[in-house]
Amino acid sequence: MTTAIYPGSFDPITNGHLDIVKRASSIFEKVVVGVYDLPMKNLMFSVDERVDLARMAVTDLKNVEVTGYSGITVEFARKIKAQVIVRGLRATSDFEREFEMALMNKKLAPDIELMCFMANLRYQFLSSSLLKELFQLGGNLDDMVPEAVSKALKKKLLP
Ligand code: ADP
Repeated sequence: MTTAIYPGSFDPITNGHLDIVKRASSIFEKVVVGVYDLPMKNLMFSVDERVDLARMAVTDLKNVEVTGYSGITVEFARKIKAQVIVRGLRATSDFEREFEMALMNKKLAPDIELMCFMANLRYQFLSSSLLKELFQLGGNLDDMVPEAVSKALKKKLLP
């Protein structure tokens, strides 16, 4: 059985992330969405909130689990017996950083493979940071995030 981990900040989970989760879940027997607790980023949601939002978004995918984690991603991958790390690549913006991380992970854990999925054309422009900015400016997030995320953003940002 091949288990894949899809690690990330997911602050919050978007339809771009979900597209990757769905595609990965059709290939691997089990996919664990790993919500990294303290990335070096300004976070809007706590790790528990990010896990809850991701869980709500994947309820219909029976072979997908969501869990928070801390520390080194490949160590977490080993702990849950994942053989593959899944990441999504958007045109131009992601490649160099992903390549750098992939080489570091390979050095730390040569037995764990990386599989990158090209972002869906529909979601190439979509990032959690951009959508938080857009939302703060009153923009419409239809088709960018699941319903629960849209509600959580409203709760968080509106007085
Ligand atoms: P991280 O902080 O680890 O980059 P993110 O939550 O921003 O975490 O993203 C997690 C993964 O999902 C990364 O591989 C990222 O490139 C990918 N990703 C982010 N947004 C999209 C999108 N719109 N379409 C496809 N993949 C995406």
